[in-house]
Amino acid sequence: MQNSTQNSELKDREDVAESRVSFGASSASALFYALNHNRIRDEELWGLGNRIRVCSERENHWVGDELHNTETGELYAGNGNLWSCGSKLCPSCVAKASNRSRKELKLSLKNQKLLTGEMYQFITLTIPNPGLSLIQTRAVIDRIWTLFRKRDYFKHKVRGGSKSEEFTLTENGYHYHYHLLCVTRFLNFTEFRREWSECIEIAFREFNLPCEFKTEDGLAMVKIKRLSSSANGLKGAIQEVCKYVTKSDSWEKLPQKDLIEVASIKRFWRMFEIFGSFRAQRNANVVLESPNVFITYLLTKLIVEVLKYIRTGERITILDTKQISDGECSSEFADLPEKVPKKQREMPWRKYILENGLESYFEKLAEQVEKTRYSRKCFLSLKYKYAMFHTLDGVSFSFE
Ligand SMILES: [Zn+2]
Repeated sequence: MQNSTQNSELKDREDVAESRVSFGASSASALFYALNHNRIRDEELWGLGNRIRVCSERENHWVGDELHNTETGELYAGNGNLWSCGSKLCPSCVAKASNRSRKELKLSLKNQKLLTGEMYQFITLTIPNPGLSLIQTRAVIDRIWTLFRKRDYFKHKVRGGSKSEEFTLTENGYHYHYHLLCVTRFLNFTEFRREWSECIEIAFREFNLPCEFKTEDGLAMVKIKRLSSSANGLKGAIQEVCKYVTKSDSWEKLPQKDLIEVASIKRFWRMFEIFGSFRAQRNANVVLESPNVFITYLLTKLIVEVLKYIRTGERITILDTKQISDGECSSEFADLPEKVPKKQREMPWRKYILENGLESYFEKLAEQVEKTRYSRKCFLSLKYKYAMFHTLDGVSFSFE
């Protein structure tokens, strides 16, 4: 029985990995097509397209069975990518970011205590479609949010929460909206909508846009749903708030000029944010909630040393015990590597292309990707010694 559950779990992970590979590949080709079609020679954009393509290669995606939860020992199946391009246009990397957001939000929720009269609410805020490009629309909605958050009404009613954004593309343009999961006092539906609508009107005026609400009462559409404060009640909302920020395939539907515009953003905006009381205890808890970070730290240190040994033949020094003996490892937490450590700070890829050209970058990229894939495989098999891994191109790896 357990076996068959595990098998279906593994199958699920394989399906997820497959769909990321195919969405990623189509994101990259949508971008290449747009660049070609519009005769855009911008080397950075071609570089970006290639990064997404490489990130979606079958050999870049792993699926593993019998990974263990380091706290509970529970076994599970997992999947992921070995090298990450980090682009907002890449479904695998966006999924990774969503995962991080979900963890962050769960941690914040753990620390909330509802006061008398307070409740959890799931709120969707919409704006009338201003008929602008995606990036311009986003600037408008961001302004509305800033206005809304500064209002006394908001400060009085909402103690803290998380905000994520999403857009859908329809025949009439972009429908941008926010999802909030927050702790609030009782909200009067009409009053809440009026406050939000006023902020929309002010922002639209600032941007010289005509503003019209196509509702019976002339107020913006808002959805408010009260949630049960049980873990189960919040679970669905967490999923909703932290799901892939845009559906992966929507890049293909994007008009070419918008796709190019989005691809040209160097520093993408944060699409997930926590505020107020959700923020307060965040930093203090990261260390407390991660009893395994030290183990992870030792493992990554081991890999660095092994890699160094392979490269230079230098002696391996694995444990740095001077800080452990007296239990003083707090300073180690501060600079813990998030995943596989980088040996040295690499030059940012955009800068590299600018200085050395695309040809040279492709060579460098290939080399980087190969190295990262290798060390990531080492990391995974060391961390999950009992697990069996394979990449989507059919190559297995595990701890020997
Ligand atoms: Zn990626």
